[in-house]
Order: sequence, then C-alpha cells, then structure tokens
Amino acid sequence: MAEAAELGSARLLAAACREHEAAFGRAPVLAAWAPGRVNLIGEHTDYNCGFVLPMALQLGTVLVGSPTKDGTISIITTSADADKPRRVEFPTPSQSSPLSPGQPRWANYVKGVIQHYKGGPMPGFSAVIASDIPLGGGLSSSAALEVATYTFLQQLCPDDSDLVAKALLCQKAEHTFANMPCGIMDQFISAMGKEGHALLIDCRSLETVLVPLSDASLAVLITNSNVRHTLTGSEYPTRRRQCEEAAAALGKESLRDATMAELEAAKSRLGEEVYRRARHVIGEIARTEQAAQALKNRDYKTFGKLMVESHNSLRDDYEVSCPELDELVAAALEVKGVYGSRMTGGGFGGCTVTLLKAEAAEEAQRHIQEKYSRTATFYLTKPSEGAKVLPL
Ligand code: ADP
Ligand code: MG
Repeated sequence: MAEAAELGSARLLAAACREHEAAFGRAPVLAAWAPGRVNLIGEHTDYNCGFVLPMALQLGTVLVGSPTKDGTISIITTSADADKPRRVEFPTPSQSSPLSPGQPRWANYVKGVIQHYKGGPMPGFSAVIASDIPLGGGLSSSAALEVATYTFLQQLCPDDSDLVAKALLCQKAEHTFANMPCGIMDQFISAMGKEGHALLIDCRSLETVLVPLSDASLAVLITNSNVRHTLTGSEYPTRRRQCEEAAAALGKESLRDATMAELEAAKSRLGEEVYRRARHVIGEIARTEQAAQALKNRDYKTFGKLMVESHNSLRDDYEVSCPELDELVAAALEVKGVYGSRMTGGGFGGCTVTLLKAEAAEEAQRHIQEKYSRTATFYLTKPSEGAKVLPL
C-alpha cells in the first residue's frame, strides 16, 4: 500500500510539472507533498484539551515550483473545485508590506503560510498545486495545502523549526488567513504522519505517540456521504461554549480534567443539554485512549466497539451527526468483517470511517452503496507517511 501513496503523489507530481511548464515556460525544480487525514476516533475533543487519533492518508497535495528573480510569487491551483481565479500573483512579503487575506479564498491558505514562515529571505517563485483530496470533504485538504506549502518553502529558503513548530505555524495560517479556528490535529498529522501508524495526539501537552496500524489483514474504508448540511453556522461556537460552561461549572480548566463521576455529581447544576455535551466529551476522551491501547494490542474488536460508541455519542449526546451519516454507519455495521464504523470530522455531513478486514472491503462498498439513499464515494486507504520532499 506504500506504493499507492507513491503512485498517487507521482501522478500528481507529473500533472503539476506539466502545468508549470505550460504556464511558466520552464520546469519546476522543487516539489513537496503533504497528506490529508482521517480521524479514527476522538471527535470534538481537540478544543477540550483531549486526545485525537488520526492517520495520514495516501491522498495528498503536491506543490511544485521554482525560484524567480523578480520578487513576485505566482501560484496556480489545478483543482477544479477551488474558487476562481485559479492563478494568483503577489509580491514577496516584507516587514513594510505584509500579505493579507483576500480573494480568491483558496490562496489564503498558501498566503498565510508564506506570511508567517520564519526561514531565510524568501525569493519570488512560481508554483503549481495539484491534489487528489476532495476539497471541503472533511479529509483536510486545507491542512495538506498548508503543510505542502511549508515543506516547499523549507527547500526554497530553509528554516530551523521542528515539526511541532511547523504544524503550529500552519494552524496559525488557517486561523488568521482562512478565518477558521481549527484545532491542531490536521496540521500535526499531515506533518508527522508515519506509514503504518496512527498518531495519538494529546491536544493539551502536544505530545504525540505513534500507534502501529499495519496489519495486512486490516483496512480502513472512508465513505464520503457527499452531503454537507449548511446549518446556521453557530453549531461549532455553541458546542465550544457549552463545553466551557460545563468545565467552569465543574471547577475545571477544561473537560479534559473532569471525570464522569464528577459530571454525574454535578448533573443537577447543569442544563440537560450541557450535561449531554459534556458527557460526550468526557466519554470520548476516555474512549480515544482506550482505542489507542486496543490498537497496540491488535484488539480490533474492542477498537470497533469504541468507534460505534463514539458514533452513538456524537449522534445522541453531541448531536452533530445527520441521517446520511447514520445510514452509512448502520449499513457498514451490517457487513461481515466490519469491526466498527463512525462519522468522522466535525459532523453534519462529510465522511464516515470504517475499520474492517481487508477481505471484506469490496463487499462493504457494495453493501453500503446499495443501502445508501444517495451516491457515496469510497476511499480504501492505509496509514501513510507525513509531508515529504519529492525528488525531481
Ligand atoms: P477540508 O480541509 O475538509 O478539505 P476546508 O473547508 O477546511 O475543508 O478546506 C477546503 C478549502 O481549502 C477549499 O475550499 C480551498 O479553498 C482550499 N484548498 C484545499 N486544497 C486546495 C487545492 N489543492 N487548491 C486550491 N485550494 C485548496
Ligand atoms: Mg480543513
């Protein structure tokens, strides 16, 4: 399966190089790749200082380019789903003229990383972006773009940051330039993923532990519901506020520090809804640690059971699932050889993730599509390497 990632990035690399030659009249000399991710378990725990357990995908984003002498940065994305125009041009940032976010929106992810980057003096450059991650599908095309950009810049004008600083800078770019107050998970896993491993991230200490997930008899199936319910947009801030309220009522800095017993003891002081939100978070943090342990023990049954508990808790207590995700999970659980399945990502649409026997993968896709009321898209994947330089 390592070849699948290699094949994917080689194909993207070839496409990006062709476009670079066509648009700029010369071959690129530098290239970088960064993966998307799927979160196996640990949902809505990151902003509660809890644990998450993502893995890097074989799907990723390539950025190729070459330095120029005119002090201008010209970037093209080949993604048809990006907003237009697909080519942008701006001067290299300086103290007196920093970059700022604007239109098109897609360029903000790149500009944010360029602006915050702390390497040697940055020359102008031309670049082309190519990706096989669906944009906005919950597999973190945004972090892949940021981390690919950073990895490209590290070759163009090297820095001396470590991987944690790299991931945090990419997160800052997303906060400040794309106006998305995301947690640290996406950038961490895209920068630090390891082939054959999931990554347990402690969102409080920022410590990471690699957890082997390389059993050849095992597969991870991502199913895109291809729906995204645009709600009022207040759900995410409301959930965050409810978590803070629960933590404050329990006298804790965050829900990471609270136990289920403490929550139960305080139940009468909390509103019913806030109580359920906190119950999800406290339960999910514990489940994520247990799941990492189960994975270490190759106890896939327990892992799968925890995935299902996670889904039910997100559906009933946190209320961020939707009928389409519930349908996909229910259908997956009917298939022989499936250990567990759950919604993954923020919710209200996007993807589910299913842990199953590799031999069951084909039947699972057939059955899920047969039961699903819409058209699903499937990605059968194994844990891949984090960001890397591609030789040219
Ligand atoms: P996700 O990270 O789940 O894919 P986001 O909404 O966080 O969804 O990020 C998607 C946005 O990131 C896109 O709408 C686009 O603006 C930007 N983006 C990601 N990858 C690319 C790419 N290859 N080319 C251009 N823009 C991209
Ligand atoms: Mg994103």
